[in-house]
Amino acid sequence: MKYDCDVIQDLLPLYQDQVCSGKSRAIVEEHISECAVCQKMAEQMGDSTVEEKLTEEKNSVIQKHQKLVNRKTTTIGMTMAGILMIPVLVCLICNLAIGHALDWFFIVLTAMLLVASFIVVPFVTETKRFLWVVMTATASLILLLLTCCIYTHGRWFFVASSGSILGISVLFAPFVIVPLCKGTKLERHRAALTVLWDTVWLYLLLIACGMFINGDARYWYMALTIATYIVVLVWIYVFVIDYGKSSGQTRAGILVMISGIWLGVANDVLNFFLAPVGEADGHGLGGLDLSKGFSMDDIAVLNANLLFVIIVVSVCVGGVMIFSGLVKEKKANETEK
Ligand SMILES: [Zn+2]
Repeated sequence: MKYDCDVIQDLLPLYQDQVCSGKSRAIVEEHISECAVCQKMAEQMGDSTVEEKLTEEKNSVIQKHQKLVNRKTTTIGMTMAGILMIPVLVCLICNLAIGHALDWFFIVLTAMLLVASFIVVPFVTETKRFLWVVMTATASLILLLLTCCIYTHGRWFFVASSGSILGISVLFAPFVIVPLCKGTKLERHRAALTVLWDTVWLYLLLIACGMFINGDARYWYMALTIATYIVVLVWIYVFVIDYGKSSGQTRAGILVMISGIWLGVANDVLNFFLAPVGEADGHGLGGLDLSKGFSMDDIAVLNANLLFVIIVVSVCVGGVMIFSGLVKEKKANETEK
């Protein structure tokens, strides 16, 4: 061997990165064809370039740090859970000592569960924290309502719980359903799924209220008619926004137009459906008389005139948006060709 192994090994990184001269290259190749030690070293270097090694090292450092942080936050979470247990235990003893039974203790326990879902759950969950907090908080809120309802011998549990879930859903369902759908076939329909969930709970609330007040046929008819009129508009939004093929501006225009008309004819449509049960209020477009303007003297006329203006404005604004949106789309298509 013409060259010392040390010299060759010094050259190896340059050889691997293909930045050495042709002469050095020939020397290295000749040497490693004869020397097993240097050949092995060259192979190992070829397996992972310097950059890969650095990334690996970096990742392992980050992971180690993350683990340490996670362990610390878990400890904080556990400590808080422990602190929360103190009032629970005190109440358990008091309740047993004074009442000789466990009744209001369960209210304290479930209330503490609700507190824990906000201050313990974020520390003990490693991924999807927000999702866990929302779900555990909702579950403990429902449990709290249930224990209170049983304790007071009430029958309002379903009204309170369905109302709470509907309220929480309207605010947080997107943040729960969207991450749950991520990477699945349902991802495309996440908006529809969110609105479907809210729709189900709206009707469940109506059913719970109807049962709570022992609603008669008239209640069911009115509640379902009015709710459905609003729900249909929400679903139109979902379909136009999420499944519409035209540009954003065109779709926004369509929605402006539909919303205006929907609001404008709401009284008339609902009067039409509610008249059979004697609940029509007559405040629709029927009283339209633009010559009277917007004076407060005749509420029916004022109402009709305002509704008329809403329809006209939304149709005009929506129409302009749709028209200019379509023109832009056409231009864009032409330049593409
Ligand atoms: Zn060698």
